[in-house]
Amino acid sequence: MDTLIKLQDIAVNMHLEPAEEVQTSPAVAPCGQVLQRERQPQKELGIFHAAAGGHTVPILKTMLTTACERNCFYCPFRAGRNSYRRTTVKPEEMAKVTADMARAGLIRGLFLSSGIIGGGVKTQDRLIKTVEILRQQYGFRGYIHLKIMPGADQAQVERAAQLADRLSINLEAPNDRRLHLLAPMKQFGEELVRPLQWVQQLRASQTPAHTWNGKWPSTVTQFVVGAVGESDVEILSTSEHLYRHERLTRTYFSAFSPIEDTPLENVAAASPLREHRLYQASFLFRDYGFTLEEMPFDDSGYLPLDEDPKLAWAKLNLFETPVEINQASRDELLRVPGIGPKSAHAILTARRKGTLRDLRDLQQIGVRTGRLENYVTLAGARPRRLTQSRLNFSL
Ligand code: SF4
Repeated sequence: MDTLIKLQDIAVNMHLEPAEEVQTSPAVAPCGQVLQRERQPQKELGIFHAAAGGHTVPILKTMLTTACERNCFYCPFRAGRNSYRRTTVKPEEMAKVTADMARAGLIRGLFLSSGIIGGGVKTQDRLIKTVEILRQQYGFRGYIHLKIMPGADQAQVERAAQLADRLSINLEAPNDRRLHLLAPMKQFGEELVRPLQWVQQLRASQTPAHTWNGKWPSTVTQFVVGAVGESDVEILSTSEHLYRHERLTRTYFSAFSPIEDTPLENVAAASPLREHRLYQASFLFRDYGFTLEEMPFDDSGYLPLDEDPKLAWAKLNLFETPVEINQASRDELLRVPGIGPKSAHAILTARRKGTLRDLRDLQQIGVRTGRLENYVTLAGARPRRLTQSRLNFSL
């Protein structure tokens, strides 16, 4: 079968395989030189626009095979799902089509995953071989996000770290007990957490001299949310641990959505809003210095859905004791709703030149003031609404 036709078959379910900061729905590939030569029908190939390396770039998001010998309960590729047609692409084919698409200007990166056939080690070998051909034979210098297979060994993880820009292995569940309800053949600690630890050990102990670009790859993971009764505190405690100890760049959350002909097909879909709140909370750990204990969980361990967790925390903690914008430390500023790392930096810089006295002073240095007025003071006074404020920021 034509490799591009295979990519189309695979692409049908790739939106279910979370990865990267995907920002748009799958793109229809424009008809380029290579595609015309190979008579590409005008259908989706699995090209997504994703944030990679600080830019938004088109990446081919695909798999070496959609066949799998494992039986994860949520997965469209699970063994025994007979309604689903399987597609396999050889490493040589995948490397060639990726290089061709890159030369045609259709993509600038590759996200490569696979179903497991013949065990994790053999499957990882095929993934690594694909990327080796791509980097070494075709000289591909684009972005590569490579999946680590459950069961891959340490030497394979180290080789993958030399070739890729990002490595990921999806934990799917926050702990062993929940994982057993989602993916009974996966081992939480040995198969899923351990490879993330291997990568962090590498980054902490060795210089990246033998990597393709002189840098170690980032690591990310993903949780399925809402399929097996796990609470937000369970998910976020694992997420916080991974940020602190394994230096993950990001933990992804995917609201569960049932797939027919799987054991969870009758479980209700999870709320996308819950997924959104989990992202907000995880960014508070990663970028704002919050701890798990400060999250506004209810008695059952869930975040409020009707309010973002930073605002909920501020209502409890800053309304009576607001932050003085002209004296607060960076960490204190970051706790104010509406103030992020860029705004905190702008405030700290502006304070060296003069006193910030009202909301317009903040607006002039790029701070969005819509959410902070109840939680700050400016020169000792609660800010007045912008319509009443005067411009009196003196530099
Ligand atoms: S191992 Fe991966 S591809 Fe296979 S069933 Fe589980 S999640 Fe799906």
